[in-house]
Amino acid sequence: MPIDWHGFAQLPFTTKPELVEDQSAFPPLGTIATYPRERYLTYHQTSGTTGRPLVVLDTPESWDWWTECWQYIYRAAGVTDRDRLFMAFSFGPFIGFWAAHAAALKLGALGIPGGGLDSKARLHLMASAQATVLLSTPTYALRLAEVARQEDIDLSQLGVHTTIHAGEPGASLPSVRDRIQRAWGAKCFDHAGATEVGAYGYTCDTQTGLHVIESEFIAEVLDPQSGQTVSEGSVGELVLTNLGRVGWPVIRYRTGDLVQMGGCSCPCGRTFQTLPGGLIGRADDLMVVRGINIYPSSIEAIIREFEVDEFRIVRTRQQEMDELFVEVEASTEVANALADAFSQHLAVRIETQTVAPASLPRFELKANRVVDRRGDV
Ligand SMILES: [Zn+2]
Repeated sequence: MPIDWHGFAQLPFTTKPELVEDQSAFPPLGTIATYPRERYLTYHQTSGTTGRPLVVLDTPESWDWWTECWQYIYRAAGVTDRDRLFMAFSFGPFIGFWAAHAAALKLGALGIPGGGLDSKARLHLMASAQATVLLSTPTYALRLAEVARQEDIDLSQLGVHTTIHAGEPGASLPSVRDRIQRAWGAKCFDHAGATEVGAYGYTCDTQTGLHVIESEFIAEVLDPQSGQTVSEGSVGELVLTNLGRVGWPVIRYRTGDLVQMGGCSCPCGRTFQTLPGGLIGRADDLMVVRGINIYPSSIEAIIREFEVDEFRIVRTRQQEMDELFVEVEASTEVANALADAFSQHLAVRIETQTVAPASLPRFELKANRVVDRRGDV
């Protein structure tokens, strides 16, 4: 029977606040679970940085589906059963790379858990276990490179040929990707997933953004206001329906992630929907400075062209107007050059301030490099 897409587009959206409210009203799982509680196998929860954490459980079938989705990611990155995969991840209740680890074992590769260790210990474990693949946030891959420099460890000698990143948009930003590739002497791949829906996006060999695993997800890119599908080349919110997560289905889930609607042809030969440039930013990350729309990822893309170890975006308010400046661990010359580059690329002047080396926070999971001081007097 042909699919009634018009009918599908009439279905209501699912949102994160709705799932959280449902769980508060009907604890502990809410009404989304499709099986009795004893059928579930894995427990995870969202980080809860923006409110109450959302608990997400998977049945054996649903967890198996997660690990199948990860095979697309591994296959596209050229990871095989001969590889040894190091997960620079804490293995706490956040779903993160848990599925990546389970999928590595399913592939027949060696999974090396990197939880409970500091960066130095992780580097030594990678060396002694002869890891060939690193999985981490893009920020943390750069952090490990920084620690390796301090410890006189030559990353290019470690034997890591591939890095796979998630949790932040960085690995699809050419400047971030090039920096990671240079530091590790490895090929860098992006991946996108979300606790609420599953592991849905991966980079192919062309490294131009993400493909959506359309055999397992229905992907829509919609105008956040009108809810209408955007045209090819335009930016909209990614809305996903997962098809194989039988124990935890979501229909038309609004991810809050902004993506560019790409076509369905790619030089790699795959016909799955493309999202050129990967995740562009979160709809709620948008900063408006003197009428110009700026996402933190646009600032990072410029910063990574320069020799900057770490940075932080500070939002302020001056005379009722939103402003921002950027703190950088870099020399004064670099900071000045960076301010010029902002003017050139973002069409707005953004000041930079140098700060002492190693004074800004470092991140292991998702980096939070934006501080909001607009309410400060
Ligand atoms: Zn492709």
